Amino acid sequence: MYGTIRFEQNPHCKTIPGPDESLGFGRYFTDHMFMMDYEEGQGWLDPRIIPYGPLSHDPAAMVFHYGQAVFEGLKAFRTNKEDIVLFRPDQNAKRLNRSCERLSMPSLDEDFVVQAIQSLVRVDANWVPRKEGSSLYIRPFVISTEAGLGVRASSRYSFIIIMSPVGAYYEEGLQPVNILVEGHFARAVQGGTGNAKVAGNYAASLNAQAIAKENNCAQVLWLDAVEKKYLEEVGSMNVFFKINGEIITPSLSGSILEGITRKSIIHLLKDWGLPVKEQKISIDDIVEAYKNGTLEEAFGTGTAAVVSPIGSLLWQGTPMVINQGHIGELVHRLYDTITGIQFGRIEDTHSWLVTC
Ligand code: PMP
Repeated sequence: MYGTIRFEQNPHCKTIPGPDESLGFGRYFTDHMFMMDYEEGQGWLDPRIIPYGPLSHDPAAMVFHYGQAVFEGLKAFRTNKEDIVLFRPDQNAKRLNRSCERLSMPSLDEDFVVQAIQSLVRVDANWVPRKEGSSLYIRPFVISTEAGLGVRASSRYSFIIIMSPVGAYYEEGLQPVNILVEGHFARAVQGGTGNAKVAGNYAASLNAQAIAKENNCAQVLWLDAVEKKYLEEVGSMNVFFKINGEIITPSLSGSILEGITRKSIIHLLKDWGLPVKEQKISIDDIVEAYKNGTLEEAFGTGTAAVVSPIGSLLWQGTPMVINQGHIGELVHRLYDTITGIQFGRIEDTHSWLVTC
């Protein structure tokens, strides 16, 4: 599509962290990165896999001033058959394009994006960890690089992919977290950028995150920006509730990011014949379900954790403890099924896996 991918071997490869080292999240980076540049009038140019290293940019590069920056996040897994697989990378490529479009950035050929990821993973295949539960996190991103201070869309961009081996999110099994229902700050607004994976969304979420920490909570539950009433997302995850046997997740209102885990979970729930609804759901509905004893489970969903059970919701100073702080059956079943598919223990009947 954009020509063959040029390869430049890193002459100074690093020592790959051993199985006993704690990988954490995004602490180590592999030896190579993918890069390709965009010039207005010429399109995407010079796809290449080169040694991982610093970027050099003009201080007036537009990304530093007006924030045209979007990103993606997905993982490569080493299955029990020693294959290296990606989980639904086509969906990440699609979402990357939706994000680019929202910030007036040029689109990318989606098949080529997947090929670029596969090629980079193949080059640094030794970095895909073997330890149970760990994986290689892949971070594609696009930034504007033209030097200039006029507020307009840049005429130059770079598309870059970097990779980081990451440990199992739950080293000691699934852990429920406390969540603060955020009544003041908003993550996203209708017509804004919340449904795109735009770097600035995450910058704007940090102060609420800090308040959550002060309240002994891991994350915030975001409410809609206008009425401060309808549930949107939890931290940087989508959110699901099981109320009276029915599974509910907020419908994609325009300010919610459509998670690939969310989409996969809805698919699985339908396969299993369980009642699942995408609809507007308010904090009052949750309080009512809590009070009448029908709030059975609550959990976040995303690439990093797959599912993250919510142990309690702190709303207006009062904690609502869910399922007596225990992890529900549904969370376990979803977690086991998705990680089972990813690591090759369960047959991939939906063709979600793409081999590298
Ligand atoms: N919402 C937000 C704001 C996110 O950043 C993410 C992580 N990409 C998600 C939801 C979950 O998306 P996914 O399941 O694709 O990781």
